[in-house]
Amino acid sequence: MSTLPPCPNCNSEYTYEDGLMLICPECAHEWSAAASAHTAGDDDKVIKDAVGNTLQDGDTITVIKDLKVKGSSLVVKVGTKVKGIRLVDGDHDIDCKIDGIGAMKLKSEFVRKV
Ligand SMILES: [Zn+2]
Repeated sequence: MSTLPPCPNCNSEYTYEDGLMLICPECAHEWSAAASAHTAGDDDKVIKDAVGNTLQDGDTITVIKDLKVKGSSLVVKVGTKVKGIRLVDGDHDIDCKIDGIGAMKLKSEFVRKV
């Protein structure tokens, strides 16, 4: 079950989904689910590094563990600095580009904010 946000117009909790729209039965207000999820902010996942720092897009991190690059013999060495990370959804929640390796995804638990 997903929890729908309350109506931004009258705060009613009885909102329901109709396709991509959310509808409030009490005041008949209709709005876009995607836009509301974004502004409501309570859906935003906070991604933290190995020591509990909150990570943000554009942060610089270092890798705290040797990480094998899937599908290759390359290894991202511990201490590798990665600039300009981008947070993404999924098991590997950091999208980045590493010098000498290229674009790859990392797990936030194996990095540390610089
Ligand atoms: Zn309403």
